[in-house]
Amino acid sequence: MVRIDLAKMPNPHKNKPVMGAPTLLGIPFDANSSYLRGPAEAPPRIREAFRCESSNIWTESGVNLDGAFLDADDVTIPEGDAAFAAIEKAVGELLDKDRRPICLGGDHSITYPILRAFRKHFAGLTIVHFDAHPDLYDEFEGNRHSHACPFARIMEESCAKRLIQLGIRTMNEHQRQQANRFGVEVVPMRELPALKLLKLAGPIYVSFDVDVLDPAFAPGISHREPGGMSVREAIAHLHAIRGEIVGADLVEYNPRQDVAGLTAMVCGKILKEMLGKMVQVL
Ligand code: MN
Ligand code: MN
Repeated sequence: MVRIDLAKMPNPHKNKPVMGAPTLLGIPFDANSSYLRGPAEAPPRIREAFRCESSNIWTESGVNLDGAFLDADDVTIPEGDAAFAAIEKAVGELLDKDRRPICLGGDHSITYPILRAFRKHFAGLTIVHFDAHPDLYDEFEGNRHSHACPFARIMEESCAKRLIQLGIRTMNEHQRQQANRFGVEVVPMRELPALKLLKLAGPIYVSFDVDVLDPAFAPGISHREPGGMSVREAIAHLHAIRGEIVGADLVEYNPRQDVAGLTAMVCGKILKEMLGKMVQVL
């Protein structure tokens, strides 16, 4: 059998629009959470809320999602260090089929292996990252794969050309230095809205950490940081994105912290509007 070095192959997907089906992929993994466990239980809860009969399958932007996406079920996560390789492989297999993965976390550490898979298919990716936290630590409590670190790894390995962070409200000196080092475009919570910044070119990846929202709207998270976005502000920023979204994730929902399933419904709503953006490219 001939082994093919992907890095040396001319890649037919690079920088070309990929209009493949948006495809859900659950990633039940929270071993890199620094404070509370629970996000590994999120994928089925998000799917359940998304499909809840209390609402319908149309987005606010007027897209009928019925039949407009696929579901690849959950990744089977092995114990220990093999977890990231399994995530990267599962996402890579969807990209090989020209699908556009929407990964349901899981803690935010999963975005690093997800984007390692994207790097093989897309050059010049722009990440739009919604979060209360910059997640740029070089290491956190001795763990370089902590959910506090994914965007340091992503920028070190040039998995993206641009990183735009929205809603940040926990910046410290170390992470400020890291943001400067990697050229991260940080829009703190107090400087929002930033709708015009989201008119983008080239392939876009959206990483949505649910804790960007004010805990009053979304209490089901591990790190409640008051003073965040309303659901309406988050949707307005999602809708403002111009350009082709080739993939996304929705991470850090923690069902153990939720109140009456409220945050699950918020996740279902955010997922619906994300899917709408992927189906209807503007
Ligand atoms: Mn995060
Ligand atoms: Mn966060």
